[in-house]
Parts: sequence; structure tokens; C-alpha cells
Amino acid sequence: MFSSSRNTAQTNISTTKRRSLRMMQVFLAFFGLLVACSNRPPQVPAISPNALKFYEKHPDYLFKSIIQRRFKLEDIEPTIKALHAPFRVSLAGQSFQKRNIYHVNIGNGPVKVLLWSQMHGDEPTATMAMMDIFNFFQQKDEFDPLRQEILSKLSLHFIPMLNPDGANRFTRRSMQGIDINRDALRLQTPEARILKKVRDEVKADWGFNLHDQNIYLGAGRGPYPASISFLAPAYDYEKSINEVRGDAMKLIGLMNQVLQTRIPNQVGRYDDAFEPRAFGDNMQKWGTRTILIETGGLKGDPENQELRRLNFTIFMSALEGIANQVYQKWDFSGYDSLPENESNSFHDMILRKLQIMRNDKLYTVDLAFRRAEVEAPAPNKYFYKSTISELGDLSTSHAYEEHNLEGYQAVPGKILSGVYPSGQNIGPAEIKDFHSRGITDIQRTGWAENMEQSKFPLLFIRPKDNSADPGQSGVIGLGVNTSLLIQKDGVTEYVVVNGFLHKIL
Ligand SMILES: [Zn+2]
Repeated sequence: MFSSSRNTAQTNISTTKRRSLRMMQVFLAFFGLLVACSNRPPQVPAISPNALKFYEKHPDYLFKSIIQRRFKLEDIEPTIKALHAPFRVSLAGQSFQKRNIYHVNIGNGPVKVLLWSQMHGDEPTATMAMMDIFNFFQQKDEFDPLRQEILSKLSLHFIPMLNPDGANRFTRRSMQGIDINRDALRLQTPEARILKKVRDEVKADWGFNLHDQNIYLGAGRGPYPASISFLAPAYDYEKSINEVRGDAMKLIGLMNQVLQTRIPNQVGRYDDAFEPRAFGDNMQKWGTRTILIETGGLKGDPENQELRRLNFTIFMSALEGIANQVYQKWDFSGYDSLPENESNSFHDMILRKLQIMRNDKLYTVDLAFRRAEVEAPAPNKYFYKSTISELGDLSTSHAYEEHNLEGYQAVPGKILSGVYPSGQNIGPAEIKDFHSRGITDIQRTGWAENMEQSKFPLLFIRPKDNSADPGQSGVIGLGVNTSLLIQKDGVTEYVVVNGFLHKIL
């Protein structure tokens, strides 16, 4: 009995233990589920089937007159003026130099969307995509139901090329020397006054502030350029999130999802510091859900034509997402997942692990090059003027073009003595002869500077005074455009001329 009652007691105890163990297990399982839920990537809406089609069908809507970044108002103005119903085109005003700035409107819906491009004159990618969007709305095809939905739910307002004076000279600032995007409060430029006036008249619910950014920004620290970056600009120094800014963040999540299908890892987030003088920040403050889109660099796309196609794709996806309100299904995770723009981490070319010599000492460096664009005398043309943009251990930097040259030494090339006849072509045999003699630079007058010339395996320079013994092309150092012979065991295998690597013939 005793033992039995002890047994009974034991049984009771163990039953109680088991019960509490069970409860503990249930609790742990529930808690675990909670943890698992919070760790699991948030559920995002499925990508719109149209998003992929916008990209595929873009060639049908391409505004073919422009296929390069350098163009002027006169290249788009006749087409804008000729837009017919259902488009409504009006003159929004004139630039400082009296160039026309247009307000293009289509759609009758209650939600007002304002898109303005090229506030900075040398940032033309979105203008090209806007011209494609104008074509899109003039055609009839399988997208007709979507066109109807967008135009019945939204009113679209475009200001293509807000800074035609800057575009004319392919420079950032207005003709007054003012950065229009720092003139949102003082309104000293006619261009800024026009943008503010249109925004206030339209009472825009959404604003798309369309720019191009430095091509040397990385998307985070990895080897990816920030080919397109987004920002929902802050409206205060605390970077608060209200409904207006929150909606902009949600829509960015949607656009990023579309971009990741085409340029994975190459989407960044622009610096979100509050800038009290900028339009985006103030628009957000004035109650317009504002999205900054900055187009950067993409490998193999020097004229931004693929980036233009991607601009078209995300603009159309955004308009669809606003019209059918899918953006509201997004949380902030898409926006928050974007890596920040990493400044100064990219170059056009990096040659890795080269040996160079100074004071009879050999040492190993990575050499980085950037190819600056210089306006050429011919209209809408440019040439490259390259410099060594960084040297040393560049293991944390990246480039659109990289070569491992371990085991090679770089030495400055020589300048050909005497002035080379200006009208005479230089053929492959002569190039080979020059390179075999270690000559990279040619003194010459009267040659036209253009892009093709700037990729030539010989550098043309203006004649020096001491042309009898002009010496070598320079020293290997920061900020100079030294032509290089790339040698293995004293034999030249490559030359670097104006920031381009050429295998010698
Ligand atoms: Zn800009």
C-alpha cells in the first residue's frame, strides 16, 4: 500500500510533470512558430505578368530618333508638339534662355501623377523613356485594356526635359549656373518656378523625380554597380515615415521586384539624408508621394539604351501598380532590402596586381582608370579623356572591366620624336612598328577629337617644344593619363592608351 500509494503518488507527480511538459512543448512550438514567422522573408505580391511584357515589347514603342544620350530640345520638340488627342500638350513656360518647357497630359482619372525629367541637363535617360511612353499611349495592341485602366484611373502629367538649356550644353546646371534641384524654396530659376507651378496646379498625388547618377556608384559594397537607384526622399531630418512617404516606399518595392528580374543586385538606394532645398524632399513634405529614380551605369551600355528600356519598364509597372493599387499590398521590406549606394567604389577599368617601378624599387599595385567624357566640336559627340583614378590595394573597388595582370610590369610608353603629318592615316603595320619600339604617343596637329579617336591604340598629343627628344608619356600616378607598356620579362604584350587596354599586334 505504502509502496503502492508511493507509486500512485509517483504516478500523479509524473502525470503532472508530463502535463506541464506537454504545455511547455505547445508553448515552445507556438513561440517557435512566432520566431519562424518573423524570420521568414515577408510575403510579397507576385510580379505582374505585364511587367515582363513591358520590357519585351519596348522595341515597339521605341522613339527611334534618339538612340544616344546627347540630344537637345530640338530633337524631341517637334514630336511633343505633334502629340494629338488623347494627349493635351501645353507650354508650361520657358527656360532662362527662352527654350520651351512642355506639360504633356493624358488621362482623366482622379489620381494625379507627375513625372519630370532632365532637371539636370546631362541626365537624359528618363527623357528617352518618356518619349517611348508617349508612343505607348498612341498605339493599339494587347495592352489596350491596361491603357484604358490607367487613363481612367490616373491623370498623367509629364514635363520632359525641365532643363533644356542644360541639355543644350549637356551640363548639369541651368544657364544661371544654379542647380535647379537646390532651388525648390528660393525659386530663382524659371525652371524651378515652372515645376512648382505645375505641381501645385495638378495637385500631384505622386511625383517621379527622374535623374541619372554618377556611374561610379556601387550597389552596396559588392562588385555590382548601382545601375538604377531609388529613394523615397525624407521630408525631415529625422527621416520620419508618414503615409505619403510610406506609399512611395511601397511602390519602390514593386519597381525593385521588376528590376531584379533584369539586373539582379544592381539596384541601390540613394543617400536618404534630408536636403531642405531639394524638390523631392519638399514635394514629399507638400504631400506628393515622391520617388527619386537615379539611372547609373550598366556594363556594355555606354549610351544607356538598355537602361532606357528598364526605365520604361519600371515607369509602366509603377503606373499599373498605382492604377490597380497593388502597391498597397507591399510593406517596406522591398525598400529596406535595397543596398545603399556606395560612393566612389567603381572605375571604368582596373588592372590588378601590376608591378611598377619607382626609384629602382618594384612594387605591386592595382591601377584603376576612369574615362571622362569631353564634349567634342562635332554636335552631340564626345571623346574620352582618361586618367589613373586610383592605385594601390584596390581589393575593395570594382570596375566595369577588370584584368588580372599578375606577373606583368607597367612602364610608361615613349613619345614619337617629331611631329607626325596631320592628314596621314596610321595603319596596323605602323601601329605595330610604333608599339614594338615602345612608342605610344604621337605629336600631331589638326586631328579631330572624337570618340573613336580616343579609343585608338596610340594617343595623339599636341606637339611639345622639345620635339627632338620628347621623352616618355609621363609618370604612373594619380590623376594623369600616362600611356603604358604592359610587359612580361621585358616583352611588351599590351599597351594602355587613354584608359583602354589593347593587345599589341
Ligand atoms: Zn540629377
